Amino acid sequence: MAPVYDRVALIGLGLIASSMFWAMKRGGLAGEVTGYARSPETRATAREIGLCDRVCDSAAEAVEGADLVVLCVPVGAMGAVAAEIAPSLKPGATVSDVGSVKKAVIEAVAPHLPQGVHFVPAHPLAGTEHSGPRSGFAELFDNRWCLIVPDTGSDRDAVARVARLWQGMGAQTDEMDAEHHDLVLAVTSHAPHLIAYTMVGVADDLRRVTDSEVIKYSAAGFRDFTRIAASDPTMWRDVFLNNKEATLEILGRFTEELFALQRAIRTGDGDHLFAYFTRTRAIRRGIIEAGQDTDAPDFGRVKKG
Ligand code: NAP
Repeated sequence: MAPVYDRVALIGLGLIASSMFWAMKRGGLAGEVTGYARSPETRATAREIGLCDRVCDSAAEAVEGADLVVLCVPVGAMGAVAAEIAPSLKPGATVSDVGSVKKAVIEAVAPHLPQGVHFVPAHPLAGTEHSGPRSGFAELFDNRWCLIVPDTGSDRDAVARVARLWQGMGAQTDEMDAEHHDLVLAVTSHAPHLIAYTMVGVADDLRRVTDSEVIKYSAAGFRDFTRIAASDPTMWRDVFLNNKEATLEILGRFTEELFALQRAIRTGDGDHLFAYFTRTRAIRRGIIEAGQDTDAPDFGRVKKG
């Protein structure tokens, strides 16, 4: 495939940036990819494993001459990074990001960007519980969605080009406005993560009572929660602090439903429970039919590579 960009700069070299690098290499999507991370350790690891064609010792050097700059740092750090790179951006360049929250990131980044630089926020709906420069792999975005969140005034050619890059990396793309994005993600990702963190916290409290039984006999449901609850603490702290409104709205609804189920259990209302579980089972089937998961029996036993 012909490169979509001659020069791409990745700022932050963790799971998402490293997966982007390997996916861009796989698809021949960029002429040269430069990279920068704030810690010398991460930059040394990147050099050691060949992550990026050139690892730079400053963000300014990495973005110099780049046609596309992708901010791959935690949501709470996006604004400061944008301010740092702004004076070195090439006129006509596109700045994008991969943050899990969009409204707060747009508000933090956009004011720093000079006239003539296009801003095309994006969010790949793909990840693992691992982080850091060694955790990436080229297939992470295959058959996943990447949501592009342009402003009404965004340059359409710049938006189309960012979409083309994500499609080249294996993703399907769609456009959404920032507020809607944040609400959808609060339902599908942010609230479930908080619930998993809570469930594992509760089990940990219980473990003090029952010794190691919680771990020893942990069934698939709990093991799935522990995988989600192993996600990066910095990233998730920033997600909740920056998607407050939507997450609190969904958690409010969740609490109401939980109370209704609690009441059904107490009053022995089996019909309510059965109807509820039948509805949720249909949602799972819908996800499999949409190709967003497989129906392979696993129950947490199969080690995924
Ligand atoms: P990661 O593996 O933890 O890597 C984060 C990178 O950001 C590291 O290179 C780190 O530098 C740098 N960084 C951390 N704090 C910083 C700060 N205060 N200032 C400047 N740089 C900083 O994270 P990731 O999973 O790739 O996530 C990156 C972004 O993608 C986040 O905005 C996240 O919301 C979004 N995202 C994540 C997932 C997921 O499942 N992981 C999925 C979709 C989108 P050092 O290594 O030098 O510390």
